[in-house]
Formats: sequence, structure tokens, C-alpha cells
Amino acid sequence: MLFDTHAHLNAEQFNEDLEEVISRAQEAGVTNMVVVGFDRPTITRAMELAEGYEFIYACVGWHPVDAIDMTDEDLLWIEELAAHPKVVAIGEMGLDYHWDKSPKDIQKEVFRKQIQLAKKVKLPIVIHNREATQDIVEILKEEGAAEVGGIMHCFSGSAETAKECVNMNFYISLGGPVTFKNAKKPKEVAAEIPIDKLLIETDCPYLAPHPFRGKRNEPSYVKLVAEQIAEIKGLTYEEVAEATTQNAKKCFAIN
Ligand SMILES: [Zn+2]
Repeated sequence: MLFDTHAHLNAEQFNEDLEEVISRAQEAGVTNMVVVGFDRPTITRAMELAEGYEFIYACVGWHPVDAIDMTDEDLLWIEELAAHPKVVAIGEMGLDYHWDKSPKDIQKEVFRKQIQLAKKVKLPIVIHNREATQDIVEILKEEGAAEVGGIMHCFSGSAETAKECVNMNFYISLGGPVTFKNAKKPKEVAAEIPIDKLLIETDCPYLAPHPFRGKRNEPSYVKLVAEQIAEIKGLTYEEVAEATTQNAKKCFAIN
């Protein structure tokens, strides 16, 4: 069993062959996936998929790159969706300083509002962080995000920061980059963070693991991430698959 905790099967890259992609995932042993929506169209599609497939769950929120577009109505809509039984988390939310479409102060405001919403609806949060680690950790502390906890998605920071996040009730999710030969930090994180705090994900269609780097990613490839973590930690593949699946179910409160 494998749990892909972060998949964008709602992306247009899967419009042509979604059924085949899902079949390959099941053949690879993927038993659960969370599809993440981060704006109006992708949230709508994530909800359709969660309603259409028993093993697919939805995470709904607003992406920091598009923070400037989020209205009060959008936030209210996300709050309403949070009551749906297949919605298991709020996000992805956070800060992205790589792109400058949304000014930093607006990104921070939209991030804080979504943390407050998650606390209100009592759901964990999924964090997107790009070049903004310090500000993210500060906001998580100031907003008391430990109360709901959640996931540091596709974590790319240091093992030290990862430990700080674990102490704030967050799981560390590793994706394709942990399999890249030159990815020193994700490998250190895999080595140093205990298996009961690690999750696996694809972030598909992005960030395909080795040897598919640069190609379209898909949930079946999450197996490669589990294999790499097993090798780094000196565990069996089955142990990593079992532990990360149990961790994900605990985090999302799925039985
Ligand atoms: Zn994502």
C-alpha cells in the first residue's frame, strides 16, 4: 500500500488519459491519493474526482502565487467545502517568493486567513514553501498552526528546519527530488527525520522522480520515492510503504 499525499490529477495534463493513470497507480500499489486544488477551477475538479473515486480525497485552498486573486467569497467557498466528508485538509497555502505575481504582504495575509480558517473547521493544513522558509515558520508559530498541524509539502529545506516543523505538529512530505542524485538536503531530511513523521507524494504532474525527471509525473511513481527513502533509512520498501500510509491516514483522519 502507498499513499500519494499530494497529486494534481485535476491538472489539464491528465485530461487525455486519467483512467490509465489511475489504473497504473493501482497496479503500483497506490491505495489512496489526495488531489490538491488551489484556485477555482482546480478546486472544482478536485471535488469532482473525490466524489467520483472512493480512494481519492480532496485538499482545498488558495495558492500563494495567486494570493492577489483570492476574494472573500473564495474563502467562504473553501470554508463551505471543508464540511464535505471527502475534504481532508486545507491548502495548498503558504508563501512563494520565487514568483512576484502576488506581493509578499498579500501572500502573508492570505496565508494567515487560511490558517485561521483551518483552525475554525479543524482540518490540517498543507504548506507550499518556495524560498520563504523563515517567514513560513514565523507565521505558523504566530498563528498557532500547531493546533491543527499538517504537512510540509515537497519539503526542500534543511533537516534542522524539518525538525522545527515536526515540533510544530507537522509531517514532512518528500517527493521526486529525494531521488535526484544531487539532492543533498532531501536525502538528509529522509535520513534524519523519523519514519513516523514522513509522508510521500508525487506533486504530479510536476517533479517526476529519477529516472523520469523532466517528464510528466504520475501517482504510480510515488513507489520510487518510497524505495529511495527505504534505501536511505536502511528499512525495507514494505516498512516505508506501511509507515507512510499509516502516517497519512492519521494526518488526514482517514480510517
Ligand atoms: Zn502542489
